[in-house]
Amino acid sequence: MSTNPFHAPGEWLKAALHTHSTESDGTLPPARLVATYEEAGFDVVAITDHWRLTEVPSTGRVITVRGAELGWDLARPNYPTQSAEFLVYGIDHIPEDPGGDRANWYTNDEEHYEVRTFRDLTAGCAWAASTDAVVYVAHPYWNGLHVDDIASQDGYVGIEVYNASAENETGRGDSSPWWDALLRSGRPVLGIATDDQHYPLFELGAAWTMVRAAERTEAAVLDALRTGATYLSEGPVIHDVEVSADGVEVVCSPARQVRLHTEEEWGTSVSVGRHGRRNGRILETDGRGLITRVLLDRQGDRLYERITVVDEHGRRAWTNPLHPVSLG
Ligand SMILES: [Zn+2]
Repeated sequence: MSTNPFHAPGEWLKAALHTHSTESDGTLPPARLVATYEEAGFDVVAITDHWRLTEVPSTGRVITVRGAELGWDLARPNYPTQSAEFLVYGIDHIPEDPGGDRANWYTNDEEHYEVRTFRDLTAGCAWAASTDAVVYVAHPYWNGLHVDDIASQDGYVGIEVYNASAENETGRGDSSPWWDALLRSGRPVLGIATDDQHYPLFELGAAWTMVRAAERTEAAVLDALRTGATYLSEGPVIHDVEVSADGVEVVCSPARQVRLHTEEEWGTSVSVGRHGRRNGRILETDGRGLITRVLLDRQGDRLYERITVVDEHGRRAWTNPLHPVSLG
């Protein structure tokens, strides 16, 4: 989070960071899966099969990132298992014995994958760090995690703030309250959004992460995931975010509301329409009066600030926390 990704050199790449192939519980074979994302306009695909490294070479357009979905033992009982999951990027192997409680390991014969665990998230992150890999905690809301299950651990750079298939299946895809709680505790936690694709017709492309990469390489994508040179979306485009003493200026695709989130009740928003609120100033609109440029009020010195853009269909895009980007 050292530079503003909207002002960084490089280009925006559309990234699928949580997706499953027939190597675990997905329905498309790995190469076909990458080709399908390419047809859908993606630039980056990290296949994250359960406890399996599924390697597909980069194509002419799509950069593949070596990832997986791994797990850890929770310190407190949880239903239906005693474990939770994390996404890891930039690995070169899967550990044979990650050291967790074997009572939590299982094989899913029907979908032919197996699940093992690290003894806690910190241990999983330490293993990932030993291979220079980047860790994001998967779907906290869907897993029923307590904030402290994450806050008590170290070594991850962020959480999966939005998981589209969890949202569509169970209404538990939006983990932004966990994000705010972690940020409120003073942790510089980043976010990703994903489709967690298993069934392409239902899910593929329902949410994604935009990655500001210095070049079209796996290493540059990993750098962006490590430093937060990203934003999250299920539709809207964020063109620019600029923080000044006057406020936060956001340039975006047509939106009915733009929000500034910060701790507790101090957030602000500007919206159009019947229930419009104006904690700031609309600077530009499109032909139908939707917001395309706005200056949001800031509420003094806050621990963090992040932006959400909401389009006319209710689809959102999320920035990472702007600090210490702000005024920097
Ligand atoms: Zn998954």
